[in-house]
Amino acid sequence: MERTLAIIKPDAVAKSHSGRIIERIEAEGFKIKAIKMLHLTKQGAEGFYAVHKERPFFNDLTDFMCSGPAVVMVLEADQAIIRWRTLMGATDPAEATEGTIRKNFAENKERNAVHGSDAPETAAFEISYYFNSLEIVG
Ligand code: ADP
Ligand code: MG
Repeated sequence: MERTLAIIKPDAVAKSHSGRIIERIEAEGFKIKAIKMLHLTKQGAEGFYAVHKERPFFNDLTDFMCSGPAVVMVLEADQAIIRWRTLMGATDPAEATEGTIRKNFAENKERNAVHGSDAPETAAFEISYYFNSLEIVG
């Protein structure tokens, strides 16, 4: 079993798509081990996306991520990291496969509905960024 961090980003929460996205997550067999709603600060978003701080979209991305509440979750499944990224679809919804969450719910390459960790090391960092061990069910 593997764990990954998932975020329903502020665009999707604002449009009341959280329930439908969570329904997809559960239908695909992921177990939700932790969940909460957060309104990130600019500093909190910058820390989370620190790997992207030299990228041209960093300032816009971190503004967007603190523009409204987000839902953060720990998902568990066999191969959770790759499976959640496959279910999310490509970063740019214009390039995302039919039936993926980003194809169905994302507005554009920045406001793209969901986040998922991309490797075991980033999953460990990202889970610990938002949850302590008492907040994750066994
Ligand atoms: P992913 O979320 O698919 O792992 P990245 O890690 O490359 O994608 O980028 C992190 C987030 O930054 C994306 O989900 C998206 O919100 C935003 N982003 C990435 N590339 C761009 C871009 N070219 N223009 C605007 N925003 C972008
Ligand atoms: Mg990424």
